[in-house]
Amino acid sequence: MPREPILTPAANPDEDDRELRPQRMRDMVGQREVMERLDIAVDAARKRGESLGHILFDGPPGLGKTTFATCIPRELNVALVTSSGPALKAPKDLIPYLTNMEENAVLFIDEIHRLPKPVEEYLYTAMEDFRLDIVLGEGVNARTINLKLKKFTLIGATTRAGMLSAPLRDRFHMREHLGFYALPEMTEILRRSAKKLNVRLAEDAALEIAKRSRATPRIGNNRLRWIRDYADSKAGGNATLEVSRAALEMAGIDTLGLDKQDRGYLETLMRVFGGGPAGVEAIAHTMNLATDTLSDEVEPFLLRSELVIRSPRGRVATAKAYEHLQLSPPADATDSQRPLF
Ligand code: ADP
Repeated sequence: MPREPILTPAANPDEDDRELRPQRMRDMVGQREVMERLDIAVDAARKRGESLGHILFDGPPGLGKTTFATCIPRELNVALVTSSGPALKAPKDLIPYLTNMEENAVLFIDEIHRLPKPVEEYLYTAMEDFRLDIVLGEGVNARTINLKLKKFTLIGATTRAGMLSAPLRDRFHMREHLGFYALPEMTEILRRSAKKLNVRLAEDAALEIAKRSRATPRIGNNRLRWIRDYADSKAGGNATLEVSRAALEMAGIDTLGLDKQDRGYLETLMRVFGGGPAGVEAIAHTMNLATDTLSDEVEPFLLRSELVIRSPRGRVATAKAYEHLQLSPPADATDSQRPLF
């Protein structure tokens, strides 16, 4: 019998997510190369009866980092314990996790780039030698206790691989980047989610929602839930293409899948900063948003869609962005400001 992962309340993915989240790796769509490498690593660990090497997942939110982290222990038939960078404020918060871990179990730390430095340092020997050096007392009375740990696998997830210190990054045996999903993959994810949610989703509607989901499964699933409500309330539960389009329009989601916040970013860049170059902090301040929100959640898709480019002097809106928002580029744009695409 596969074990049910133990999820701590702090990091428990919400119930809705749980309902749609694939339970096994074979149920996941896309990320083929990552999946192939993980399959081999998991298979080898299982055959040898050893713990799997530590794995770091990075990529924008909603692309499957937590899903991989919850599927892998099921494949290995081991327990999963989860926590997150911000929840582990001091080394004492980490110690119970490590000392209570069963042999070969998985510890998942979400947002691992937000671990405070002293906590991170405790992880080094734990990851490398499965040992904890705990310092008790202070000054001349200080003593170090070496605690042997059971072998375990650390799975870290981050939206900012670049913010991880080199010593921590280097202790992961596998580092996997999760990229955006291709259209056929998004369509398949939506088809599967529609089945689980009992939505009568037309094939052309699935494709349309996929196109408007910013290549991100979590966003696709959220939009599908809204379309289900809309269809139930207004269309007898039939999510046709027309019904789906009307629902998306009502939610302020445009033909490229951008929402109000995405368009707000582009409009700020174009209207306030003349199309750029502008620093992300300046854009965030003007929009009254946290810089992290912009750089983690908004910018990756705008960059990928070539609506914005990054230049050494800041972000620049492209001709495609002006066209999409039906605005005209500034007449006095200098060469570096002139949209390149
Ligand atoms: P992250 O941890 O990267 O923010 P999650 O793993 O929580 O993202 O994914 C968000 C949701 O998207 C999941 O609940 C799941 O329903 C869906 N999802 C993510 N990746 C996949 C995938 N490869 N196949 C199917 N559904 C996926």
